Amino acid sequence: MRLIPLLIALLLALPAQAEGFITRLLNKPVPGGVAVVDLGPATTAPRATYQGKPLLVIHEDGQRWIAIVGLPLSVRPGSQQIEVDGQRRLSFQVDNRHYAEQRITLKNQQQVTPNPANLKRIEHELAEQTRAYRQFSPRQPSNLLFDRPVDGPLSSPFGLRRFFNGEERNPHSGLDFAAARGTPVRAPAAGRVILLGDYFFNGKTVFVDHGQGLISMFCHLSAIDVKLGDELPRGAVLGKVGATGRATGPHLHWNVSLNDARIDPAIFIGAFKP
Ligand code: ZN
Repeated sequence: MRLIPLLIALLLALPAQAEGFITRLLNKPVPGGVAVVDLGPATTAPRATYQGKPLLVIHEDGQRWIAIVGLPLSVRPGSQQIEVDGQRRLSFQVDNRHYAEQRITLKNQQQVTPNPANLKRIEHELAEQTRAYRQFSPRQPSNLLFDRPVDGPLSSPFGLRRFFNGEERNPHSGLDFAAARGTPVRAPAAGRVILLGDYFFNGKTVFVDHGQGLISMFCHLSAIDVKLGDELPRGAVLGKVGATGRATGPHLHWNVSLNDARIDPAIFIGAFKP
């Protein structure tokens, strides 16, 4: 007779077992979000790709492999697929997400409609940054629940449709934190410094590779405190908050990229709002 309560308890426990902590934290399958796809059990890590790009694959709870898929803002809601070990395909659903609009006034019209010389510079810088985002190193990220890179409240959210002096430009590709000039910026997880620059739009910038295509970019810094190739432990200071590049005042702009898709960093600090 005691078997029935036990069976009920087991059945109730099943959904919780089937979905681990990382899946619950990160699975936000919307444009600009993350899809966690169950790859099932296997003795070695499966290799998975999305739109031809290698994916972050981890072993969750010692039970199953999962692929953590970055979904670009441009992805169409509906059915999407990943490829596993070059043979099987797994489908997942992408839901809708509404992104608000933001109107910004800039005194420097060059930052809205750059002249040909600046356009050339911007193109070159974009290519350099895209190459950094496409790097894929085999290391496992030290932590997928990231630390906040600065002390300070969140300001502009990810994905805002932005109008500079009334003209629509690229949507907001990262998350902003309000913080005073000089506030230390810390690595939200361990990683290697793969690119440094002083860019037209992003100002003084640091790229950190956390492993398997998970890459952070920190922008508008007033100072950079690391060198190319540095291995940063979790929490290491990499620079200081500033307002270099296209910024209306001191703040930290933080991008998170996964499989070359810029996604909402709020997901990784447990601050995602649907
Ligand atoms: Zn920003």
